[in-house]
Amino acid sequence: MTETTAAPQSRAFEADVAKLLHMMVHSVYSDRDVFLRELISNAADACEKLRFEAIQNPALLGEDPKPRILITADKDAGRLVIEDNGVGMSAEEMIEALGTIARSGTKAFMERIEAAQGSKDGAQLIGQFGVGFYSAFMVADRVDVASRRAGAEEASLWSSDGKGEYTIAALDLAEAPARGTRVTLHLTEEAKSYADKWTLERIVKAQSGHVPVPIALVEKPGDEPQQIADGAALWTRPKAEVTKEEYADFYRSVAGQFDEPAVTIHYRAEGRHEYTALAFVPSTAPFDLFDAERRGRMKLYVRRVFITDDAELLPRYLRFTRGLVDSHDLPLNVSREMIQQSPVLAAIRKGLTNRVLGDLEKLAQNEAETFATVWEAFGPVIKEGLYEDFERQEQLLKLSRFRSTASGDGWRSLKDYVEGLKENQTAIYYLAGGNLDQLKASPHLEGFRARGIEVLLLSDPVDSFWVTNAQGFEGKPFKSASQGAADLSAFPKSESETAETPEASEAVAG
Ligand code: ADP
Repeated sequence: MTETTAAPQSRAFEADVAKLLHMMVHSVYSDRDVFLRELISNAADACEKLRFEAIQNPALLGEDPKPRILITADKDAGRLVIEDNGVGMSAEEMIEALGTIARSGTKAFMERIEAAQGSKDGAQLIGQFGVGFYSAFMVADRVDVASRRAGAEEASLWSSDGKGEYTIAALDLAEAPARGTRVTLHLTEEAKSYADKWTLERIVKAQSGHVPVPIALVEKPGDEPQQIADGAALWTRPKAEVTKEEYADFYRSVAGQFDEPAVTIHYRAEGRHEYTALAFVPSTAPFDLFDAERRGRMKLYVRRVFITDDAELLPRYLRFTRGLVDSHDLPLNVSREMIQQSPVLAAIRKGLTNRVLGDLEKLAQNEAETFATVWEAFGPVIKEGLYEDFERQEQLLKLSRFRSTASGDGWRSLKDYVEGLKENQTAIYYLAGGNLDQLKASPHLEGFRARGIEVLLLSDPVDSFWVTNAQGFEGKPFKSASQGAADLSAFPKSESETAETPEASEAVAG
């Protein structure tokens, strides 16, 4: 043990953290329970990171190889402790991880959360943004984090009341976890019920019952721990044995979302490449969907060992999909960089992409309404695939839905469009740019309206990228209505509208 006499160092939170904490503490969220899910998910991640590091360095596991999360309630003291035997943090890592917001898009997030203050959305945003740890301050007026990194001969204590500053100090090894992290919440008066055994058991089972690390609960210090979740990874169970609620709970705990998944995809691939995939398409969009740096967040496991959430398991235009792939074939000790280049990964990526698109197609056929909500949330992202993934352009065009002069408030598919073609019509007409109202008011549409010819109204910024290069649909090329006026002479006008649409305006429109 090295000297531990240095006085605790006081440090200020990064400005955005201070602001975030302030908002979190002063907003009344309808669902404060989420703090527990966030802390458990951090603890589980820490255990999985250790499993990964231990592949190269088995000594890190020492005499305590089994990952676990222990929750200790102490009603009398008004305390709640969440402890893991995972990878732990050094003092520097704590300063970095618990004093700053590392993620991009912070500003957008802060704006959104300010706008959502006091509403349920606020709590949703917290989970999505991965500022999960700070949610502890929704229920605690002081949080202590004691941590010892696996293999290190020193430990540290981080402590804060969430009001702008935190302290960091060396911690005597005797008071630190033997390995991993112990988070102690000093519960506020209103949050004392979180030290109640039944409350805890209920929340853990509902929110975190399927994390891949077992969770035990101690009712009061000194009692025997009682296992409340077995750590059996949900995805290893046969599909037929998993209920809809179990899938939804798991989705919420991996995705940090609060909604129901719109699509659940769970399958085992056998044959040349063996893997299990459990993936979800959310029903609502996260706030940072268009953030340039936003990546997909599919997790990659190898035989139940978490490897990374950085592997590109799906193309960018499906980046809203959440979940995981557990591969049987990849070697455990492969580096993250090598994984990216692995043919196994390429095969998984292809298989999974086909599955996601296929299931979205099925949804469009069988549950048009649910599909419409998915399209409203993610359509502009899926359309990026129209120019990024030429091989699947046709499939993606089939999946795409549009506003048009014939759609009203609903959606039209290209199949609908083609079925409604006028005699002699050889092109799919569209008008792109601006917003929907501007498009609807465009003089370019007059001649088309007069002849009852449908025009797609493309108002997403992404539309101008694909439509000019798209190969067409069922042999019909896309043609801009602003250049298509000359074609109109081939079509008779419908009787009723002839009077209102003088020929002259069409000539101008060209
Ligand atoms: P996220 O988990 O989304 O990154 P959090 O705010 O919940 O965001 O946590 C920030 C970081 O703090 C984590 O990425 C991790 O590096 C670190 N951390 C939090 N809790 C633990 C823990 N129990 N063990 C090890 N590291 C942790």
